[in-house]
Amino acid sequence: MNAVMTPRASDLTSSIRHQLFIDGQFVDAASGETLISVNPHDNSPIVAVAMAGHADIDRAVAAARRAFPRWSRMAAAERGRILLKVADLIEAHAEELARLESLDTGHPLRDSRRLDVPRTAACFRYFGGMADKFQGDTIPVEAGFLNYTLHEPVGIVGQVVPWNFPLMFTGWKMAPALAAGNCIVMKPAEITPLTSLRIAELMSIAGVPDGVVNIVPGLGAVAGQYIAEHPEIAKVSFTGSTATGRRIVNASAGNLKKVHLELGGKGPNIVFDDANLQAAVNGSAWAIFHNQGQACIAGSRLMLHERIADEFLDKFLPLARSIRLGNPLDEATEMGPLTSSQHRDRVLDYVGIAQAEGGQLLAGGQSPGGELAAGCYVEPTVVQAASFKDRVAQEEVFGPFVTVLTFKSDEEALQIANSTDYGLGSGLWTGGLQRAHKFARDLSAGMVWINSYKRVNPGSPFGGVGRSGYGREMGFEAMREYTNVKSVWVNVDAQIPAHFER
Ligand code: NAD
Repeated sequence: MNAVMTPRASDLTSSIRHQLFIDGQFVDAASGETLISVNPHDNSPIVAVAMAGHADIDRAVAAARRAFPRWSRMAAAERGRILLKVADLIEAHAEELARLESLDTGHPLRDSRRLDVPRTAACFRYFGGMADKFQGDTIPVEAGFLNYTLHEPVGIVGQVVPWNFPLMFTGWKMAPALAAGNCIVMKPAEITPLTSLRIAELMSIAGVPDGVVNIVPGLGAVAGQYIAEHPEIAKVSFTGSTATGRRIVNASAGNLKKVHLELGGKGPNIVFDDANLQAAVNGSAWAIFHNQGQACIAGSRLMLHERIADEFLDKFLPLARSIRLGNPLDEATEMGPLTSSQHRDRVLDYVGIAQAEGGQLLAGGQSPGGELAAGCYVEPTVVQAASFKDRVAQEEVFGPFVTVLTFKSDEEALQIANSTDYGLGSGLWTGGLQRAHKFARDLSAGMVWINSYKRVNPGSPFGGVGRSGYGREMGFEAMREYTNVKSVWVNVDAQIPAHFER
């Protein structure tokens, strides 16, 4: 660790926002309760954050309802202009946001700087530009009538965000919802609330009116559940586990909310024997080890054609073992800690599960000692599974843990790839054009990356099938998610209706 380059956590804490953000103000929870945000590097407390309960959610919803008429009827271009300003402010505060995100989540600073912050700004910029371009249709109907569609905001939107990419997901969820004219009550994950509170403050500075965005950190089973149940919230957008997704669907039934679910994944990353092996090795390491594997789209099943499996692993295993673990705020760090010690323990449990099923540990498999022993670290871990039906080949581990499987033919590769209940990210490495497109067509997945992995862009739809959820973030799809379509009929020629003629 480089003592000169690595700021202490306390250097950042003086400016950290730690109250609820409701109606344009930072306020304490009605109950006065707090939860402690912890630095996963050493499990030291960062700050006590106000913890929202039902009364606070009700206040946030009431503020959003008051703000809705003005925000939803504002010229779309004006909403867009404000979102573009948000993007500018994120860029102006890029270094602060990157450090805050790394402190709270464990993302290596180099990734927070290079990916999380620019992607969040890009998302606000994209949807800022989109606000006045998402238009309805005129539909050629019967003579004498004009029919057109209006895309109307759904109203008050509840958004429940996980802990793996809190800053970026805040952008992914808020930017399209706001561009479409909705007001928001957002609950960040209880363990990573800090960047969303700061973003809310920047949004206020950019001109987002009071009440349009409300941030309510709190417990999932209390604040999250209440958002999903709330009779005045018209839609809930959720990213997180499949089990919680199910609870949200049940809780939303009272007022038949629209529900959008981004859930887990068990991404197949398939390397064929005609692949550029060096590119596949590097891309596969990125696919699983970026953000310590805490990504729903991670390439967590590394599927190798048996002809190249040994040669691939001869390159991949040393690369995995060479990844530099360390304090996320150290600029040299390539992999930080997992985001909580509870999650670290869950990931490590899977090493035992793999071995009990006859799997072979090829690399990693434990927490490093020394100066990292107090943190939530797990070494880059590679396990060869005995069967594609094993738990480690079927269940989402959500850590720096990749399960290796081999296949003999394209048919077998497709069978293994499509053998889980999930269908989110997927990738393949091949020189064969026809094979690439065949797999793109036949994989059960929301996204397919060919000779790459884990690319995202605000214009490109993101989401899954099966138990990976439904609905899409990003692009025009996201605007559809956050709007209702109204069909308007106009009797242009003033025809007298012919029914019940007298
Ligand atoms: P989780 O689903 O419990 O938490 C995600 C969010 O949902 C958090 O904000 C949490 O407070 C909230 N939440 C929890 N219970 C709720 C409820 N009953 N009603 C409403 N909201 C509720 O996820 P987790 O337990 O923190 O993580 C475990 C697993 O979740 C991971 O192993 C992974 O499978 C999955 N996960 C997926 C993503 C993703 O990007 N798709 C992100 C994080 C976690």
